[in-house]
Amino acid sequence: MQIANIIVDVPTMQTNSPYSYLVPKDLQSSLSKGMRVVVPFGKGNRKIEGFVVGIEPLTNQDPAKLKEISSIMDFEPVLDEELLDLSKWLADKTYAFRISCLLTMLPNVMKAKYAKAVKKNHPLTNQALNQKVSDNLMTPFDDKHFTEKELNQLILMQKKGDVEIEYVVKNEAKSKVELAIQNQINDFSGVRKHLKTNASAQHHLLDFLEKHPKKKLVQKKIIEKDGISPSAIKAFFNKGWINKTQVEKYRNPYKHKLVRDHPKRLTPEQEKAVLEIDQAIKKKKPETFLIEGVTGSGKTEIYLQNIQTALNDGRQALMLVPEIALTPQMVNRVKNRFGNQVAIIHSGLSNGERYDEWRRIRDGNAKVVVGARSAVFAPLQNIGIIILDEEHDTSYKQDENPRYHTRDVAIWRSKYHHCPVVLGSATPSLESRARAGKGVYHFIRLTKRVNQQQLPEVEIVDMTKEVAKSGDIFSEELLQAINEKLTKHEQVVLMLNRRGFSSFMMCRDCGYVLMCPNCDISLTMHLDSHTMKCHYCGFEEPIPNVCPKCHSHNIRYFGTGTEKVEQELAKILPQARILRMDVDTTKRKGAHERILNEFGEQKADILLGTQMIAKGLDFPNVTLVGVLNADTGLDLPDFRASERTFDLLTQVAGRAGRADKAGKVIIQTFNPEHYAIQLVKKQDYETFYKKEMKLRHLAGYAPYYFTVKLTVSSTKEQQAAGKSYEILKYLKTQLSHKTMILGPTPRPIARIKNRYYYQIIIKYKVDKKLSPALKQILQSSQQEARKGLRIAIDSEPVNFM
Ligand code: ADP
Ligand code: ZN
Ligand code: ZN
Repeated sequence: MQIANIIVDVPTMQTNSPYSYLVPKDLQSSLSKGMRVVVPFGKGNRKIEGFVVGIEPLTNQDPAKLKEISSIMDFEPVLDEELLDLSKWLADKTYAFRISCLLTMLPNVMKAKYAKAVKKNHPLTNQALNQKVSDNLMTPFDDKHFTEKELNQLILMQKKGDVEIEYVVKNEAKSKVELAIQNQINDFSGVRKHLKTNASAQHHLLDFLEKHPKKKLVQKKIIEKDGISPSAIKAFFNKGWINKTQVEKYRNPYKHKLVRDHPKRLTPEQEKAVLEIDQAIKKKKPETFLIEGVTGSGKTEIYLQNIQTALNDGRQALMLVPEIALTPQMVNRVKNRFGNQVAIIHSGLSNGERYDEWRRIRDGNAKVVVGARSAVFAPLQNIGIIILDEEHDTSYKQDENPRYHTRDVAIWRSKYHHCPVVLGSATPSLESRARAGKGVYHFIRLTKRVNQQQLPEVEIVDMTKEVAKSGDIFSEELLQAINEKLTKHEQVVLMLNRRGFSSFMMCRDCGYVLMCPNCDISLTMHLDSHTMKCHYCGFEEPIPNVCPKCHSHNIRYFGTGTEKVEQELAKILPQARILRMDVDTTKRKGAHERILNEFGEQKADILLGTQMIAKGLDFPNVTLVGVLNADTGLDLPDFRASERTFDLLTQVAGRAGRADKAGKVIIQTFNPEHYAIQLVKKQDYETFYKKEMKLRHLAGYAPYYFTVKLTVSSTKEQQAAGKSYEILKYLKTQLSHKTMILGPTPRPIARIKNRYYYQIIIKYKVDKKLSPALKQILQSSQQEARKGLRIAIDSEPVNFM
């Protein structure tokens, strides 16, 4: 007899140790490690999902005390040995439960959903219900199948034992299949003698089968493309010369024509980088490289040539990019170079399309994977290189369980696969740059743009002086520069920090600001829907005409959203053709791509957008970049605020002057003297790095200290505060006296969706007792969860709001 070790999916009763289940005889041959199964759990034996993480012979356990696996959910393992190992490490490293790590690695459709279903034990006296509840199947126990009254009746019947209501695990991961035929003939010349000489369609099919004796042939395809006649197929099938079967069909989300692209002749700087990384690929060295290359220095070309080296070596490549940099332009560059062996994983795909791309990778049909954060778990089996472009981007950190950083996972996988990791950025994270400085990472610098152009000239405009002159949106300098570019038929990119940022409503008589009823944050005005919205919980209400508090009509809207800027701009420059890109205009599938295409085809003069336009865009005709408000962020209670501001401004400045025409950048700010803004002027990352490192050293922050953020939340403020002080007390007794504990304090946005948040920040250099203490808190958090408290542990947090 065999037992399987299974990590089960039970919220509030999680542990990282597997449960043992008996493997029933009839499942023994098909069950393997890495498959999902359905098992009975707990007193009520309710059915839940679990992952098989080990199978072993039954030795010292009493089989009578073990439960049996109910059924298998997959035909093949969904996680291989590597990913199972990785999940163990991930759970430990991020203070998460292993089940959430396993689930994170899979496409959404494979995350099990539970539903209740009802089954009868004998015919029911209630005739209507007797008809509705199927005789031998489980009938879904939901409001689509039963009225509210009936649902209640069924619950009563369950108590009496007339029916049973059970949880069932739904498996939504369905693949599409196509009809195919497969040859069964061995003696082709024998069959040929059977056929009438004038049955030309049948001869054609026979010849075709002889050419592909082993292959599964998609029926639709051979009829349409190869001129095979359907009646010949029918005749062959009736004679037993072919079998009918099915093949899995992948949805192809990519509908572009490929334009073959060839490797470019490298600049000396590029060539040196490519060679160094190639060496590591060929020698199978799990080294980490950091490429610090100014915008336009041709980092992507380096990645592409290294990927080629890995492919030539019979290995695969994983390229990660931030979601917003995953533009069609970027995707096309990879697709055009490597064709259909590229799989792309991004948020614009439907669940089904994502699942198909995932299977294409698992089945070895995709050799280059490009995707955002979650693609770091792509089930590639023989990786030759892993790339993290824009490695400083905060979207690489997952903000919910498991709270992992993509860079750490990439480096773990590189050790497993014996391949290099390449981190690239014009503005590396301080952590990575510091590691490169110490020789932990190989440091490669690209200081020149490919086109030999200077970096664009940056001008800082002091808005404190402008407001009086020309209002608070456009300075005279910026308007003049835009006008100049319009007459030259060159293009302009304008960035506004944050979507519809702080366009809040305030009453001029009583000072009332319209707030979200569920969160401690003001509502933002949206002109397209004529509503005030909360960006945290989605609350929405009509734009008011009078102050809700004092009923005065004297209310005003402050701040500037992209919509408002667009309207203003249209008034000032009626001849300009403007495209707006923000969360609202890119909601629909394909909208992002359409806007960029139009801009690329020069159907517009100005591209106005949020952060979305800062990354990855490469338009040769853009010679002016304007930043309308550089400041949002600088005053946030977050020690990385300056770093983020510097990164963003450098990135967006890099969109100008990428081809043969020189570029110019105008940055409007209320903090013209701030070092993060001054240093963008020279786009001098290295000086910024040194200055910022000094400040971090003084204040005791990363990379000099490690940080852990503990957040306690509850719908009752007292409870959240109380628990956080309890945790503080516990930590004080446990941790080294050199470790610093800050807080608890209410979070900067203290209430979201009617939950109150308190946070504790732990700063440390080495503390052996920290990990056991945090794991203890994690374990006890489950009992707290039953009382409505949530405790989140975030190692190396990037978000402090
Ligand atoms: P980065 O990612 O460093 O900002 P890119 O990789 O986007 O830079 O390169 C900028 C532009 O230069 C792109 O249009 C790219 O096609 C082009 N390019 C890169 N390398 C070369 C090269 N060796 N020769 C000619 N053009 C190149
Ligand atoms: Zn008022
Ligand atoms: Zn809200």
